[in-house]
Formats: sequence, C-alpha cells, structure tokens
Amino acid sequence: MDKPATPNSFRTGPDEQGMFGIFGGRFVAETLMPLILDLERHWNEVKNDPDFRAELTDLSTHYAGRPSKLYFAEGLTRHLREVSSAKGRGGGAKVYFKREDLNHTGSHKINNCLGQILLAKRMGKKRIIAETGAGQHGVASATVAARFGYPCVVYMGATDVARQSPNVFRMKLLGAEVRPVTAGHGTLKDAMNEALRDWVTNVEDTYYLIGTAAGPHPYPELVRDFQSVIGTEARAQILEREGRLPDTIIACVGGGSNAIGLFHPFLDDRQVRIIGIEAGGRGLDGIEHCASMNAGAPGVLHGNRTYLLQNADGQIMDGHSISAGLDYPGVGPEHSWLRDSGRVEYVPILDDEALEAFKLTTRVEGIIPALESAHAIAHAVKIVPDMDKDQIVIVNLSGRGDKDVHTVADMLGMEI
Ligand SMILES: *Cc1c(COP(=O)(O)O)cnc(C)c1O
Repeated sequence: MDKPATPNSFRTGPDEQGMFGIFGGRFVAETLMPLILDLERHWNEVKNDPDFRAELTDLSTHYAGRPSKLYFAEGLTRHLREVSSAKGRGGGAKVYFKREDLNHTGSHKINNCLGQILLAKRMGKKRIIAETGAGQHGVASATVAARFGYPCVVYMGATDVARQSPNVFRMKLLGAEVRPVTAGHGTLKDAMNEALRDWVTNVEDTYYLIGTAAGPHPYPELVRDFQSVIGTEARAQILEREGRLPDTIIACVGGGSNAIGLFHPFLDDRQVRIIGIEAGGRGLDGIEHCASMNAGAPGVLHGNRTYLLQNADGQIMDGHSISAGLDYPGVGPEHSWLRDSGRVEYVPILDDEALEAFKLTTRVEGIIPALESAHAIAHAVKIVPDMDKDQIVIVNLSGRGDKDVHTVADMLGMEI
C-alpha cells in the first residue's frame, strides 16, 4: 500500500466522520445510529468539561490509585547489559516500566471504565452492558458498576466462560450477570456482536461500555482519551527523572487501548521510536496468531474499518495467543492508520518469547507481569542489548500476572 502523506500532527484525528485516514468510521445498522449520535453528542459535551475531568481525576486518584509509577527496572537493565557485554557490544539501554499493574483491578482497564461510567451517568443511563474475552474488562466493568450502583450485564463467549471461571466468579461477586454467548466460536468477537445487539434492543436505558479502542466512532476516540493518562503521566515522569524524552516506547496491542494510551502523547515527538507488539502466537506462517496488522488485511468489523484476521473469503478468523487479552481478531482503527503512515512500528512476539520474558521479569524484578505485558517486555529484551547505555526505553506494564499463573503452569508442564 502507498504511504499516505505525513501529516503535520499525528494527534488531531479522528475527523468529523470518525475516520483516521481510511480507517475507523461507523459502519453500523441504521437502528444503532441514533444511539451512536447521542453518545457522540454527550462525549463532545463532557470531554472538555472541567467538572467531568475533576470527578474523573478524583476517582482515578483515590479509587484507582493514579498516577501509576514510572519505575526504573534496574534488575532487567543490569541483566540486558550483561547480555550486551556477552555479545561484545557493551551497551544496553535503561529500561523503565510504566506500572499500570498497580492500578485497582490490576491493569489499565480501570482507566477506561471509570471514564465511561461517568459518561453513562451524565447520559442518565440506568443499565450497563459490556463484552469480555478473558474476563478482565468484564471484571473492571462490574467493578465500576458496583461502585456506582448500576445493574451490569456482561456478554462472554461460552468457550471463554468455561476457561475463565475465576473471572466469571469475580463478576458475579461484584453483582454482574454474566451471559454466555454460544454463537460462532463462543469467544470475544461473538460476545461483542451480542452486546451490540442488546444495545439496539434496549435503546432507552442502556450504556454499552466497550473494552478497547475499537468499535464505531466515537468509541476509539473516547477510549484513547481515557487511556492517554498513561502516556501523559509517563512523558512528564521521564522528563522529571531523566531530563529528556525516551528513545523508544513499547506496548502490547490487543484491541490497542493500553498502547494508544501510552503512544498518543508521544506521537508528535518524532525522535521517539514507537513500537506496538502484536501476539505472534505460534508463528505468522500458520493461523495460530493474532497479528492483524502484520498478517491481516483491512475490512469491517464491530462498526469500524481496520486491519483484521480474515481468510480469502473475507470471513473473520479466530486468532490464537497465549494471552487471552491479545486474542482479538481486529485492532483499533487508529493503530491501522499509524501503521500505514509509518509513525508506529508493529512487531509480532511469539508465545514462547512472551513466556521467557514473563519468567525473566519475575526473577530479576520481583514483578509478575501479565502475559500480555510480557509480549512488550520480550521485545525490549530483543532490542535493548543493541542500544547504547545512555538510551532510554519505556515499556508499558499493562497489568499484573496473577491471573495468568494457571496458563503459565500449563505451559511449563507444572501443576499448581
Ligand atoms: C485486556 C488487556 C490487554 C489488551 O487490551 P488493549 O486494549 O490492547 O490494551 C493488555 N494487557 C492487559 C493486562 C489486559 O488486561
């Protein structure tokens, strides 16, 4: 594909139609259009409203625990310097972790859920619905629904319900109703379809709390906005700590919300190299991966045009990743645009590489990272030994890995 012309700023999108270049938009049934327009109207009202911002900041601080720390990962840095020396290179950049794992509920997902529940309140909605794959977004949605006293229905693929029972139980404890979806393969994509269907049939009272920077406009924009707190904080924190911007920033990409949250405030800092990590699963030559931008093609899913995993007939395929959070066959439309414009590089990391990074980080840092985040760390492990000692890398630690210990035990052939 031809590269689009480089814009003056990478931070102005989307346009009025919700497009990022040829990506995004709102490809929805006519019945959904009034809801989307109503959402957009309210979003435009609150996004620069100081009272709304103050309420969100207060909750982010006292309920979620923000700002999250920017931590110098000294153990990992030392380890990668040794690797560099062993290669005869004598380099190795300083690695920092942005600690989203320290947030309430254990990941970045709470940032988005707090923003959207306040938006739902502003809109006078009475009921929350959400989709979830592994259950992380379902738990975060059920959490904010409990906090604000809303009934909450979480759609979850039947296959996922069976394999994520601790999160299903958490959601129930929090008062949410979990509705298993048997359509399709019973995974995230099917759950999202079902949530959209519920939304159309319950127009009056329901707010759809979407879990990543995807879906029809204005969702990709508003989720990015709520997650941009990650990059805004990280940028200020590194300037304070090191007196300069990082050389490279890295985040994993499922639907793309933690990544766009870190990236967006840095997009116009052209000297900062930005890398998004897709789930390479068992390799890109087969179908067992979730690398939609490296091995997919543009198409329309869940109301927007973006890179998707699809077969020759345009059928959406179920991907695979060791980490359930990266297991989405599409990606937020802004990433597709950033990919084609060349501003952000998107690179796959295999299951095995993520697992190695998971084990390494646990041992040298005393931090058990989410398997999703371990993908981003794995890429740092690859590139840092070839960088110079005075260079700086920030990796987004999107979540903690307690939820993944059963998967890891399976992979290692161990019993818990
Ligand atoms: C859900 C999740 C992801 C992937 O979602 P994005 O929208 O791409 O950020 C990554 N890391 C963790 C810890 C998650 O829970």
